[in-house]
Amino acid sequence: MSIRLKVILPYLLLTLVVAIIGVYVVTRLVSNTLSERLTNQLLEAGRAVSDQFVRTEVSHVERARTIAYTTGLAQALQNADREAALAIVEPAAAGLGVENLILITPEGKELVHLIRDAGGVLQVVDKDTGVANSPLVAPYLQSRDEQEAPHRSLGENRVDGKYYYYTSIPVPFGSEFAGVIVIGTSTNTILPFLKSAVLADVIIYSGDGQAVGTTLVASSDGSQASLDFLSITSDEYGRVISSEDIVTGQNFEIDTRWYRLARGPLQIANDRIGVFAVALPLNFVIQSTVDNRTTYVILFTLVTLVVIGIGYGISRMIINPLDSLVSTSQSIASGNLSERTGIRSNDEIGALASTFDSMTESLQNRTHELERTNEILEKMDRTKSNFIQISAHELRTPLTLIMGYSQMLEHKAKDDPETLKLARGIVEGSERMTDIVNSMLDVSRIDNKTLNLRKTSLQMDLVLQKIQKSFAPALKERNIEFNLDGVKGLPLVPADPELLQKVFHQIIMNAIKYTPDGGAVTVRGRYVNGVEEPHVEISVQDNGIGISPEMLPTVFSKFSQTGDIMLHSSGKTKFKGGGMGLGLVIARGIIEAHGGNIWAESPGYDEDKNPGSTFFISLPVEKKVEGES
Ligand code: ADP
Repeated sequence: MSIRLKVILPYLLLTLVVAIIGVYVVTRLVSNTLSERLTNQLLEAGRAVSDQFVRTEVSHVERARTIAYTTGLAQALQNADREAALAIVEPAAAGLGVENLILITPEGKELVHLIRDAGGVLQVVDKDTGVANSPLVAPYLQSRDEQEAPHRSLGENRVDGKYYYYTSIPVPFGSEFAGVIVIGTSTNTILPFLKSAVLADVIIYSGDGQAVGTTLVASSDGSQASLDFLSITSDEYGRVISSEDIVTGQNFEIDTRWYRLARGPLQIANDRIGVFAVALPLNFVIQSTVDNRTTYVILFTLVTLVVIGIGYGISRMIINPLDSLVSTSQSIASGNLSERTGIRSNDEIGALASTFDSMTESLQNRTHELERTNEILEKMDRTKSNFIQISAHELRTPLTLIMGYSQMLEHKAKDDPETLKLARGIVEGSERMTDIVNSMLDVSRIDNKTLNLRKTSLQMDLVLQKIQKSFAPALKERNIEFNLDGVKGLPLVPADPELLQKVFHQIIMNAIKYTPDGGAVTVRGRYVNGVEEPHVEISVQDNGIGISPEMLPTVFSKFSQTGDIMLHSSGKTKFKGGGMGLGLVIARGIIEAHGGNIWAESPGYDEDKNPGSTFFISLPVEKKVEGES
């Protein structure tokens, strides 16, 4: 995961979590507030219902009194004179807009019953309603008190089956009780008033919990909601009517619309005449909650985006310098030392960048210095090689002369043993010097990469047999056994015969030189055709003094001789005989110029145990052999 993600991701998650919690909490708070408001509204509506009933009662009492005090009515009632009473009451009731009027004689007889029909006309009814025995009238008949306060109740009129809100007062005749007048207004008339007064839907329940009127309509067809559906149990009715306040809570659904309901006792003066309910639609709360939630979601989304934007900006401020630092360091690592971070800030990253820049600066300076030194060294090395090459060339001419004259001297002194010995010494010395000069020339050619290869296809067994032959006297003298193993039938090797001869000569000479008398030198050959380029591998193994692990990596470096410097002019094949330490350097130069490899292995150096050494040479074979194998 990149550092950019590591910085941004937790920040992003945190912001989202805070935003989601924020939206949730705020929406909850708002919806709770709305719900509370709805409850308050319901309670308010409940009180308004009671007030409205009180107003209806006041109007009932006023109209009842007007009628009761109409001259002649009390007397007609006392006399149970229906005709006289009707003559007074009918026009008065019509004029006062009374819906239902009942007159009871002091003996409890229903004298007059007027009820408004569907056409709005007051009709005289003969049917006895039994109201005389109801709590509306019975108390008056018993007390016969013409001053008694009004009574009220909610009840069904058996004539038209409608529910009425009734108020009754006694009719006085002087100081006598002359009967009772009952005035009723149907719930159908009261309810629309109620709805507009309390701004809520209203349901009215009769004694057993049966809903007897409502303003609720089923929205689909506009018909009145089913009263049975709205009814409550008589237990619930009993609970509400005896409760002191308005009971809120339930939600219910009518034709896909949800309402919240509050019920309360319908109390006028000290009488509880029934139960009512007010209902407010819930969609207002739900809609407000949804609206609020949407608003807050948008708001929080915007805030979140802004916060994320700020976070992104901050992370860019931190990460861009780091990015620049990383790309600069990569560029420097790939060798572009002139690259700089270019960060100039006063914080920790700025400090890191400037340290890094100054580090690069000094690295660049050092590198320049080293390059200059290297150039000088290379120049010096070239001068040295040229010097060696020139001097070696120059030495060759006098050496040839010395060699020629000494050979002549040797020839002339063949009868003088003393002079012959001296001449022999000069010949051997000059031969050795020629060898040294030639080696120096070889090394400088290798260094200058001017080794001129004249390649032919070589059979390794022939090359090695030739060398074996050349060492035959030395092997015999030193009593060293020489074995050639597996070199026959090896693929042809494209190589310069003279140079390759020189290599094997040197390696085998070393093997003889570092093996004590009576030892053995084994030369093995094999063809390797595996994952690498197909090649021939020749190993030269001796059972001589071996090479120490510290020495092993340096034997192919210039002048890496281990032996005593004093022995250097001694015989080439003598045990531990001298050498200049250039033989293996030349061998490696020649083998590498052929595209081959040379390396040595030895368990260690020990002149008593003679652990031996093995030198390996691998040389690529001719291409056509590849196809054949
Ligand atoms: P030199 O002319 O001294 O032999 P070379 O370059 O041929 O120089 O060898 C370098 C050194 O490697 C030798 O001086 C010797 O110490 C070590 N060396 C080479 N061949 C052998 C061998 N077969 N066994 C042990 N040591 C060896």
